[in-house]
Amino acid sequence: MPEPDPSTAQPTEPAQPARPARPERFTAPIGTRDVLSPESERRRALVQRFADAAELAGYRHLATPMFEDLGVFTRVGASTDVVTKEMYEFTDKGGRAMALRPELTASVCRAFTEHRPAVLPWKVWYSGPQFRYEKPQKGRYRQFDQVGLETLGSEDPDLDTEAIALAWRFFRGLGLRRLRLLVNSLGEAAERAAYVDALAAYLSNHLGDLSEQAATTLQRNPLRVLDSKRSEDQPIIAGAPQLSSFLGLASVTHFERVLAGLDALGIEAEVSPKLVRGLDYYRRTTFEFATEALDSSQNALGGGGRYDGLVEALGGPPTAGVGFAIGVDRTLLACDAEGVFDAPTTALDCFVVDTTGSLYGFEIAEALRRAGVATDRSWAGELTEAGLGRPRSMKAQMKAADRSGAQVAVLIGPDELEAGAATLRPLRGGPDRSETPQRQVPLDQLVAAVLAELGR
Ligand code: AMP
Repeated sequence: MPEPDPSTAQPTEPAQPARPARPERFTAPIGTRDVLSPESERRRALVQRFADAAELAGYRHLATPMFEDLGVFTRVGASTDVVTKEMYEFTDKGGRAMALRPELTASVCRAFTEHRPAVLPWKVWYSGPQFRYEKPQKGRYRQFDQVGLETLGSEDPDLDTEAIALAWRFFRGLGLRRLRLLVNSLGEAAERAAYVDALAAYLSNHLGDLSEQAATTLQRNPLRVLDSKRSEDQPIIAGAPQLSSFLGLASVTHFERVLAGLDALGIEAEVSPKLVRGLDYYRRTTFEFATEALDSSQNALGGGGRYDGLVEALGGPPTAGVGFAIGVDRTLLACDAEGVFDAPTTALDCFVVDTTGSLYGFEIAEALRRAGVATDRSWAGELTEAGLGRPRSMKAQMKAADRSGAQVAVLIGPDELEAGAATLRPLRGGPDRSETPQRQVPLDQLVAAVLAELGR
């Protein structure tokens, strides 16, 4: 038998028993976040505020799917980055080209086309997550929430005013003060086309002075060059032709009516000729809410405007539309920066401490919950051999009661169980509370006693 070649011989050490592989740990995907309490309650409260404001003005809730046929978005946003570059597209198991929604206006128009509501204008509000494959940073995420509304089927400029006023009051109602409302008119399609030609010609004449990004944007959508934040582009943008000088009489009248409406409602708007929106379908009024409390790269809290042709592009009849979307994440960041709209208090009212291991404490907790008292209780630390929960010590349960933030504890031990009663112990002893020390209460009076203790 030949000698083993020492250079290829395997080490002869005894093999270590293989360690079980640790399961891979996952975190939320890049650009997404888990929202935990109390921030999650704050978000819900914000959406509720918006819902209340919209419903007070006759908008009804519309819930659409989070994904649609890819065409719904590509038909309406062929010239926007949101659709061309940032969309989460996928093929489903049936081979259909789909996309996670990057915004909701297209879905609303698709729903309008599908259901053809009999009563016009159709006023709807919505809320929910949107998906864009963006470069994440503070205030810019790949999944983010929006609230918004749309009105379909009316050209009335007062609907533009109503939408703007509603958003304005919503922001102000949250406590935001460092807010600017920018408005502009994009005119009709033909007026805008004439302007875009003039703008493209002007920008092309200054191509050498534009930033590389702006020069690229110019090829795709000259209007978007006006959005450039780069300093080298600013002098050229400042000298560019103005859209307002291309507007026809009807566009001017429409815009003046909107401005007069905002003035009548006491809402201060700044006319901003540079405010253009990328979608080809935008016309006439366009607006944006900008905060001065955040960096300029995330200062847009919401925006919208009038659009035409979206419903038609999706196979519906010619239909006018106006609406806006507000970014929930950014609005909350602005609230943080201004120190307003705190998270609602989520503390419990009552905590049930039960050392008997019976079902008595559970029944009491349920009775309190039925009476609207926010109640939690302690749970077994371990199981007995028979498989039942072994109650934790009084001390451990009281610690849990204190940590819960509850105002009052209901204590149950063998004495209470036998007497058909419970002991009520105030946990947050204000000056008046110290005079009501813990006391035993018969079961049939317990709920009333807890409510009284809570001052209800
Ligand atoms: P848009 O649909 O692009 O007009 O955006 C409307 C609002 O949604 C913006 O003003 C932002 O407040 C918010 N928003 C847009 N994109 C993002 C994003 N990637 N992350 C967080 N918020 C966003």
